Amino acid sequence: MPELPEMETYREFLNHNIRHKPITDVVINREKSINTGVQTFIDYVKGSNITFVKRRAKHLIFELSSGKFLLLHLMLGGLMFLGTSKNSPDRTKQIILSFGELQLNFIGLRLGYLHLLSKSELDEKLSEIGPEPFELQREEFLQRLERKKGALKPLLVEQSFIAGIGNCYSDEICFEAKIHPFRKANELSDGERNNLFDSIRPVLARAVQFGGYMDFPMYEGDKKTGSYNENTYVYEREGEKCPRCGGTIERVDHSSHKSFYCPNCQK
Ligand SMILES: [Zn+2]
Repeated sequence: MPELPEMETYREFLNHNIRHKPITDVVINREKSINTGVQTFIDYVKGSNITFVKRRAKHLIFELSSGKFLLLHLMLGGLMFLGTSKNSPDRTKQIILSFGELQLNFIGLRLGYLHLLSKSELDEKLSEIGPEPFELQREEFLQRLERKKGALKPLLVEQSFIAGIGNCYSDEICFEAKIHPFRKANELSDGERNNLFDSIRPVLARAVQFGGYMDFPMYEGDKKTGSYNENTYVYEREGEKCPRCGGTIERVDHSSHKSFYCPNCQK
């Protein structure tokens, strides 16, 4: 499932390419992917512009010139492709927003959605989400961490604790911090808590630079998107060598979470 770096990659790209362009057509092929009737959705969206694309946690928010908002969550398997009818991938598109020739295709939206919301509905929907990693201050992070009793891995992926981190980057952050992902949050030393905080932003920022790990191109000729795949430290590298100490990366399954880590340098 796309996490903060993947959604940031989309956000930047879309802000450059579709902002202020009028939405000339809207096609809804899967009614379950939206939250209104098809005609209502089209009436509100067609003819307006996207004034801004923002990100909150793993969501993208398209701000429309009509005053409404589109809230996107790709969930597992969802992706976007910006192209024309000629070069877009041969996949079922649940939703297509057209900007003249240009089409923004939403693909693989099975659990994912694109919801049409008012400002207050949007605020309500996002109200349970915790702080953004790039805004969270050290003191607040340490205080939030102190109150938690469970293991780090499930905590880091909990959106109400910290926003935008999922299975991949929680492992990468624990690796960077040299902490075993299933250590108990309240049993970490002061040094370890600070290391954890100091690892969050560098790991996420580095992943944004590599265009995240989503393997599917965003546009024809896109070479950047997904190059984090070749640059992960431990995620899905079971049996490979640890890039820091040369130890062997292991996979551990803990209730519903799988985790990759180096048993030699993550204590
Ligand atoms: Zn190691």
